[in-house]
Amino acid sequence: MERSQVFNFSAGPAMLPEPVLEKTAAELCNYHGTGMSVTEMSHRGKVFIQIAAEVEQKLRDVMGIPEGYKPLFLQGGATLQFSAVPMNLIGKTGRADYAVTGNFSNSAYKEAQRYGEINLACSSKDRNYSYIPAQDSLKLGPGAAYFHYCMNNTIFGTKWNYIPDTGDVPLVSDVSSCILSEPIDVSRFGLLYAGAQKNMGPSGLTVVIVREDILGEPLPCTPGLLDYRNQIKNDSMVNTPPCFGIYLLGLVLDWVVEMGGLEAMKAYNKEKAQILYDVLDTSDFYIAVAEKDFRSLMNVTFRTRSEELDKQFVKEAAEKGFLTLAGHRLAGGMRASIYNAMPMAGVTGLAAFMRDFEQKNG
Ligand SMILES: *Cc1c(COP(=O)(O)O)cnc(C)c1O
Repeated sequence: MERSQVFNFSAGPAMLPEPVLEKTAAELCNYHGTGMSVTEMSHRGKVFIQIAAEVEQKLRDVMGIPEGYKPLFLQGGATLQFSAVPMNLIGKTGRADYAVTGNFSNSAYKEAQRYGEINLACSSKDRNYSYIPAQDSLKLGPGAAYFHYCMNNTIFGTKWNYIPDTGDVPLVSDVSSCILSEPIDVSRFGLLYAGAQKNMGPSGLTVVIVREDILGEPLPCTPGLLDYRNQIKNDSMVNTPPCFGIYLLGLVLDWVVEMGGLEAMKAYNKEKAQILYDVLDTSDFYIAVAEKDFRSLMNVTFRTRSEELDKQFVKEAAEKGFLTLAGHRLAGGMRASIYNAMPMAGVTGLAAFMRDFEQKNG
């Protein structure tokens, strides 16, 4: 297939903005007259040091990251942060609160149990993670060093519609599938982290944004590479950083600025998501998976009444160029991931296909 015939609804690695790919291609063999690619140059050299510094500044500008916070460019995916977060933060009291609202937050919850006493602050497993528990149902444990939650649940298509109030307990959030999709008030958080491959760039880059004053002694078992203070001191270059991913993130950030910044991105994402949710809400053929108040702008989950029809939907959609619409094996049905880079035409095209499929099979 030609690129122009395809809309890729993959949950991640996901689509990148076309202008970003074109710029990457144009600069791939010869970056700014250096005669080499960004993937070939020393991370200690002047050119790359400048790229990294600029990308950090761009991220600060686009997200409005306040003084006192440090963005880090690491590896290991969001999953390695499931370990790094407790290793660095739990030492103060030995305890932490975890909200479990989906598969990734459950993995984070389980991993954290290796490092301290973990209190289950809430779980939405009773309705197969189709909703987010309310503030007044959160059971905050005594002496928690931090509260961890996953802001957008990629697999089940739900999103926290409020920022939990935990008093003085620092908030830590996995924002892998919603970072850069709308403004986040960073000042409300102790730490944010995200694998880049949903909304920021290629896999292999993990972004951590940490408020430096929440860092105490990491647990003694913490590898040097996972010690945030060590990474802060070395500007994310304790070892070779994910150079190409950092460079590509810079281009994605330039594109976000061209799109009008995060407020504009949010409006665009809302408009796109609403088109698909409108199809679901005006149909008695499709069943929306996420409860209305907690719908994600990034991952739209739905199914039909039968698994056979779901399979047929995914197959016929793929024939029309609407790719990777099968839901995660834990959720079933379908999932349309519509991150920043998914163009409006992909969403309106999919909506038309959905209506057509309903007419033929409903
Ligand atoms: C994709 C995803 C992960 C896993 O990310 P990796 O980079 O593969 O480790 C974790 N949390 C959320 C919310 C995700 O969407």
